[in-house]
Amino acid sequence: MIIAVDGPTASGKGTLAKQIAAHFGVPYLDTGLLYRAVGRQVAINGGDPDNADDAIVACSFPDELMQDDILRSEETGGLASRVSVHPGVRKALFKRQRAFAEQPGGAVLDGRDIGTVIAPDADVKLFITASVQERARRRWLEMVDKHIDHEEEIPLSEIERDVVNRDSRDINRKDAPLKAAPDAVIIDTTSFDRDAAFDAVREAVERVLG
Ligand code: C5P
Repeated sequence: MIIAVDGPTASGKGTLAKQIAAHFGVPYLDTGLLYRAVGRQVAINGGDPDNADDAIVACSFPDELMQDDILRSEETGGLASRVSVHPGVRKALFKRQRAFAEQPGGAVLDGRDIGTVIAPDADVKLFITASVQERARRRWLEMVDKHIDHEEEIPLSEIERDVVNRDSRDINRKDAPLKAAPDAVIIDTTSFDRDAAFDAVREAVERVLG
């Protein structure tokens, strides 16, 4: 059983995908972390994330990098968004994601193109979204809570601008743009708290699986 969870940045899809994986007892892959690792590796190499060659070289990042907390920073998210537009990067990361999806016991993957490119054969496809304002608010609260970025507090308006920029890069890139698969269940969590969002997602999965 493959469950594909896609959606824009800060839509809550990561948390929901993790919860669904735990609920059904299947392994979970946050594919955004792969792009974040590439973005971070470009920075370590002193390369340019907008340069396709530099980004492709960074796809052979060491596995330990996946455990580094710095991958979760806003800055690394920005780098990930830039390296992810290069088709060569997407191709280099395809095999790893596909192998994870094909595990005999099933898998849950979250990202931008899981239902459309990585696992168009998924049993369940979910597209989780929320308004730009709500997504920026959630990201801001998360940063304040976890002190993920050690810079001075970033104003909400700046986070909102960043969310819009990332959406625009994800939606408008030529290769594997962010979009809901035609057979995806679209869930808008703008007015949901965490419990309500999980209930909506669980019910959708159970409905699709019959
Ligand atoms: O989901 P997360 O914010 O960690 O993803 C970081 C960036 O990686 C996204 O902004 C997106 O550009 C890219 N990404 C992607 N395809 C995926 C997962 C993430 O292009 N499957």
